[in-house]
Amino acid sequence: QLRNPNESEFHQAVKEVFDSLIPVLAKHPSYIEHGILERMVEPERVINFQVPWVDDQGKVHVNRGFRVQFNSAIGPYKGGLRFHPSVNASIVKFLGFEQIFKNSLTGQPIGGGKGGSDFDPKGKSDREVMRFTQSFMSELCKHIGPDIDVPAGDIGVGAREIGYMFGQYKKIRGHFEAGVLTGKGFSYGGSLGRKEATGYGTVYFVEEMLKDRGLSFKDKTVVVSGSGNVSIYAIEKATKLGAKVVACSDSSGYIYDTDGINLSTVKRLKEVENKRISEYVKEHPKTQFIEGCSAIWSIPCDIALPCATQNEIDDIAARTLISNGVIAVGEGANMPCTLEAIEIFLENDILFGPAKAVNAGGVAVSALEMAQNSMRLSWTFDEVDQELHQIMKDIYRNSMNAADEYDTPGNLVVGANIAGFKKVADAMISQGVI
Ligand code: NDP
Repeated sequence: QLRNPNESEFHQAVKEVFDSLIPVLAKHPSYIEHGILERMVEPERVINFQVPWVDDQGKVHVNRGFRVQFNSAIGPYKGGLRFHPSVNASIVKFLGFEQIFKNSLTGQPIGGGKGGSDFDPKGKSDREVMRFTQSFMSELCKHIGPDIDVPAGDIGVGAREIGYMFGQYKKIRGHFEAGVLTGKGFSYGGSLGRKEATGYGTVYFVEEMLKDRGLSFKDKTVVVSGSGNVSIYAIEKATKLGAKVVACSDSSGYIYDTDGINLSTVKRLKEVENKRISEYVKEHPKTQFIEGCSAIWSIPCDIALPCATQNEIDDIAARTLISNGVIAVGEGANMPCTLEAIEIFLENDILFGPAKAVNAGGVAVSALEMAQNSMRLSWTFDEVDQELHQIMKDIYRNSMNAADEYDTPGNLVVGANIAGFKKVADAMISQGVI
């Protein structure tokens, strides 16, 4: 904390992982001898840069750009870019740190990285977004490449932004290097199934958790926060498996529809028309719109899928969910539950799936996109989806096995941290102190 003051999100992410590793270090002192923790917690490289751009009125703005290249022990840096006014060094470092273990869990050869900007895409015209992303990529392109660092999307960065960034990278570098970014449009090297991957993967993972208790999504009531990329496809898959999703949100508030929310309306509002979730009520007058986000967790549900942002479920929300009978919580977003909330879920024997395992499906399919780009091939949607499903099952099983091995049966927080850590740590030892 002395070395990284004012980085509370980063401290929180590190504490969650390092607390889990205590029994691993006791059993394998070589990790201490090789200084693995000290090396893992320090990014290999941090790039901070200026992003100047001009708005439609001719006014000049300057945003901050970040890329943290955290760990390349098992592959090129890989992780998304977030455009949101809250982005700062702490947020990018917590996300990059988490990404190391998540990427390791996927079984794919990818290291950990993350980046973004404090640019706020809300209310910006398409041209403004294009000028901003081009300026962002004009600097970032010096630091990335298919075998160096492969960014993707995250909050505020979807197919449109990736498209503009890819175009700018291609123009400056003079190469068509499809593998430099993932989440691309299908016509220029994207993978079918990438858009759905994080949301579907979240539900596949929670399905495995439920199975172990003889349960399923069928006839369960589900609350999903957010209404972005992860949320929409989590809602879609949970509904396909027979659940009723009664609520979703955006940063202004949430909608609650006891009959189950109509996903095609949400998709149109969010993916096509770029509108607020409150507009949903105009088309479905029986639905309620409630301002503010935190009360969404007071809605009674069997399964809670926080898919919006960090620290959205605190100890109070966790206790409310439990008193309303929640049986499973799956973190679709990164670090959506505070450390206190996680402890409460575990103490009360609630099935709890941690982000780095639950939402790893997105980056796993990004790695499949990289593989298709290398082979200059495109797989069908079903091929990608089947592969994703198997990867999520493997992550679940490997995390459960690691939890068993270290005497914390059923604790997926510990299991996922240990399973993700060991592969990276062993690779670091093999490669020497460099
Ligand atoms: P999107 O930008 O597509 O959607 C984010 C959603 O969350 C929006 O509904 C947004 O509302 C809401 N939201 C954002 N910030 C806040 C906030 N501070 N308070 C309340 N609501 C908020 O992002 P994604 O769906 O891609 O990402 C969601 C989460 O999933 C993030 O934690 C991300 O890191 C994680 N994730 C994403 C992956 C992916 O493949 N996309 C992969 C793995 C993890 P509004 O529109 O009003 O801002």
